[in-house]
Amino acid sequence: MTVQTEAKTYLNYIDGEWVAASTGKTDASINPANKHEIVGYIQKSGKEDLDRAVAAAKKAFAQWRKLSGPARGEYLYKMANALERRLDEVAETMTREMGKTFPEAKGETARGIAILRYYAGEGMRKNGDVIPSTDAEALMFTTRVPLGVVGVITPWNFPVAIPIWKMAPALVYGNTVVLKPAQETAVTAAKVIECMAEAGLPAGVLNLVTGNGSVIGQGIIDHPDINGITFTGSDNVGKLVGQGALARGAKYQLEMGGKNPVIVAADADLDLAVDATVSGGLRSTGQKCTATSRVIVQSAVYEEFKQKLLAKVKEIKVGHGLQSDTWMGPCASQSQLDTVLSYIQKGKEEGATLLYGGSRPEGEGLEHGFYVQPTVFENVKTNMTIAQEEIFGPVLALIKVDTIEEAIEIANDVKFGLSASIFTRDIANMLNFIKDIDAGLVRINAESAGVELQAPFGGMKQSSSHSREQGQAAIEFFTSIKTVFVKP
Ligand code: NAD
Repeated sequence: MTVQTEAKTYLNYIDGEWVAASTGKTDASINPANKHEIVGYIQKSGKEDLDRAVAAAKKAFAQWRKLSGPARGEYLYKMANALERRLDEVAETMTREMGKTFPEAKGETARGIAILRYYAGEGMRKNGDVIPSTDAEALMFTTRVPLGVVGVITPWNFPVAIPIWKMAPALVYGNTVVLKPAQETAVTAAKVIECMAEAGLPAGVLNLVTGNGSVIGQGIIDHPDINGITFTGSDNVGKLVGQGALARGAKYQLEMGGKNPVIVAADADLDLAVDATVSGGLRSTGQKCTATSRVIVQSAVYEEFKQKLLAKVKEIKVGHGLQSDTWMGPCASQSQLDTVLSYIQKGKEEGATLLYGGSRPEGEGLEHGFYVQPTVFENVKTNMTIAQEEIFGPVLALIKVDTIEEAIEIANDVKFGLSASIFTRDIANMLNFIKDIDAGLVRINAESAGVELQAPFGGMKQSSSHSREQGQAAIEFFTSIKTVFVKP
C-alpha cells in the first residue's frame, strides 16, 4: 500500500523561477523507513535544463561578482534566518527522505544554519595580502577573485549540511551556483533552496537542477561554462569528476570515502572509547564518510573492550527516525541495504567471526523499511574486504594488536585517509599517532566522526583531492589569486 503523506511535486529552481524539467519526467522520492510512503516527486531533468541553469548562472555572475563581500554576506544571513524558521520542517523531511533520526536531522539543519552565518561573516574578512616589493615605490598585493559558475554535486547522507557548506562559500566569494543534489534526497534539497531563495537573491545566482548523476552530474563535469566543480560522494564517481574536470581545465574539489580507524590503547578510558566507537560507527546508520569502521584494540584490553562494546550495541533500538525511542534508523535506500548485507556476507565468507547482528532486524513494521541490525565482527584480518572497502553501513570490524606501532600500521593499510581516532592517556602514543597516521582529520580521545564547521575538513590518499572544505580553507577552492604590482 502506498501512503502519499505529502506527495507534492518539487520543481527545479532556474533563473529565479520554480520550473518543471523539460523532459516532463519526475521521480518519486520514497521513505527508507517505509518504502510505500512517497515523500515527494522530484524533477528528472535533462541536459537542456542544466544548460538553462548554467546560462542563467553565467549571466548573473557579471553582476554578482561586483557586489561587495559584506553585501553578499547579508544575503547569507537572510538565508540562515529563513532556514531557522523552517528548521523542524526541513529536519522532518530529511528524516523521512533518508532515514536518519529526527534529533540528528535537527542537529544537521542547525549546523547548516551555523555554516550560513559563518560564511556571511566571511564576506567581511580579508581576501588578500600585501607583500613587500623590492621596488620601494611599488605596492604589491594579492587579491582573490571568484571562479565564475560553480557546479555543486552532493550525496544523500548529509542532504542539508553538505550542499550548504559548498554553496555558502561559493556565493559569498562571488561565484554563482548550480546545485545537483543526490536524487535520493532531492525533496530536502528543494526545501533548502526554497529557504535560500527567500533571501531575495538576484535571478540566476543560485540554481537547482535535480536528476540522475549520469545525466546532470556528468553534464556538470562536461559543461564548458562551469569553471569549478565541488563534489562529495563515492570515490568511483569522484574519479570521474576529477578526470573530466582536468581534461577541460576546470578547477575541481573532491571529498570521497573513508575507512576510518579507531585505535584503543591499553591505557585508554575504555568507557569513553566504547561510547565513541558506538556513536562514531553507528550513528546515522554508519552512513557518514567519517564513520568508524575499523576498531583496532590492544590485546591487553581487548576482551574487556569487546564485552563493553557488545553490551552497548545490544541496547540499540532500530526503528523509524521520527519515533522518539529510535537510536538508529534504516539504510537510506534499497541499494544501500543490499550493499551492506553483501559486505556482511563477504565478511563471513572470508573468515571473520560475526559477534552480533548481521541480518535484518525483526519488529513491527520493520519489514517495510531498509533496516539492518548494528553489526560487529571480530577476527578481522587487514586484507579482508570488510577491512579494506568502505561499507557505509552500521558494521564494526574488531582487530586485535599487540602494540601501538602495529595498530598505526594497520590503520594506514587502506587506500583512504579521511579520519582517525586514538584513545589513550599516554602523550607518547598521542604524538606518535599525530605524526604517523595517514588521515586528514586526527582525533585524540574523540570519535572519528564530527568536525567543527570552522576547521578545515578533508582527507589524505584517495579520500580527498587535498583541497580542504569548511572554515577559511574554502577560500582556496572558491577563488583564484591575482598577484598585483602597482607602480604609481
Ligand atoms: P555517489 O558518488 O553515488 O553520488 C554522489 C553524487 O554524484 C550524487 O549527486 C550523484 O547523483 C552524483 N553522480 C552519480 N554518478 C555520477 C556521474 N557519473 N557523474 C557525475 N555525478 C554523478 O555517492 P552517494 O552514494 O550519494 O554518497 C555516499 C558516498 O559519499 C560515500 O562514499 C561517502 O563516503 C561519500 N561522502 C564523503 C564525504 C566527505 O566529505 N569525504 C561526505 C559525505 C559522503
